[in-house]
Amino acid sequence: MNTTIIDGKSTAERVRNELRTAIEDLKQAGHTPGLAVVLVGEDPASRVYVNSKVKACEELGIYSQKWALPAQTSQEELLRLIDQLNRDERIHGILVQSPPPPHIDEAAVVLSIDPRKDVDGFHPVNVAKLVLEDSSGFVPCTPLGCMELLKQYGVSTQGKHAVIIGRSMIVGKPMAHLLMSKAANATVTIAHSRTHDLAGLCRTADILVAAVGRPGLVTAPFIKPGAVVLDVGINRVEDASRPRGYRIVGDVEFDSVAPLCSAITPVPGGVGPMTIAMLMANTVKACRQITARG
Ligand code: NAD
Repeated sequence: MNTTIIDGKSTAERVRNELRTAIEDLKQAGHTPGLAVVLVGEDPASRVYVNSKVKACEELGIYSQKWALPAQTSQEELLRLIDQLNRDERIHGILVQSPPPPHIDEAAVVLSIDPRKDVDGFHPVNVAKLVLEDSSGFVPCTPLGCMELLKQYGVSTQGKHAVIIGRSMIVGKPMAHLLMSKAANATVTIAHSRTHDLAGLCRTADILVAAVGRPGLVTAPFIKPGAVVLDVGINRVEDASRPRGYRIVGDVEFDSVAPLCSAITPVPGGVGPMTIAMLMANTVKACRQITARG
């Protein structure tokens, strides 16, 4: 099979280039998009994510605020900051990096964010808008990035059977809604940890999305020849040959699966780079929507 390797890095760059024009237009009209990123605690991975989001803003000319709060920050202090950001006219997007320390009620934090600034798309208002196919809502960045990859690579979803492995609110569920929407018209099946005969089910998929967090879960017997495979998984596996002692792999056993597919995303360099690009896109959208209302 002639397999297309879906290049998330160059697609993300294309998205960023389109955003540069949109940001310039907004600035000409007197509006600079602004994103506030809030981190509570010292989780090293979260710190890396937050820094790369701030860096992405800087590269595009998006105004950003980084709030790095100590791990012992109380729920009340965090909610007070979010209230301040909700009212800050320079800020159009608010993101609280997940996961917060255990004493923080994450659902209450999500609820406290103004849905118009909820660029992560986790607020119930935005979840409802996704289900209702109301395009003014915000969709979580990773599934949005997956849809953008399908679009940029000309993958038709119309009438196709899409199987999504994973039912999280961040990836699996929103991905299912996007694929079953009237814009995409796929027939969608969601698989999860209790699904029987996962391989057999996946073998019926024209489009297979793996969002599990298990390295190499998807192997050749899962694949219908010619399928398109999107690997959302980001997993660290030990690798003594690497300077850091580990490498990053997806949920798909790439070497055995890729030859069977018509197109596949690698890890790294596939879905991953799209996530931050779509966060930037959501921030620009929030700025446009908030400033249009005056
Ligand atoms: P999650 O832990 O919230 O959900 C995992 C899902 O997988 C669950 O719904 C569970 O039912 C299902 N599952 C677990 N074991 C299974 C099995 N053996 N068979 C079938 N289904 C099984 O995870 P998440 O937040 O959705 O993330 C999934 C993966 O995607 C992780 O590796 C995460 O790091 C990665 N991720 C990547 C990005 C990105 O930017 N590329 C963004 C978010 C998450």
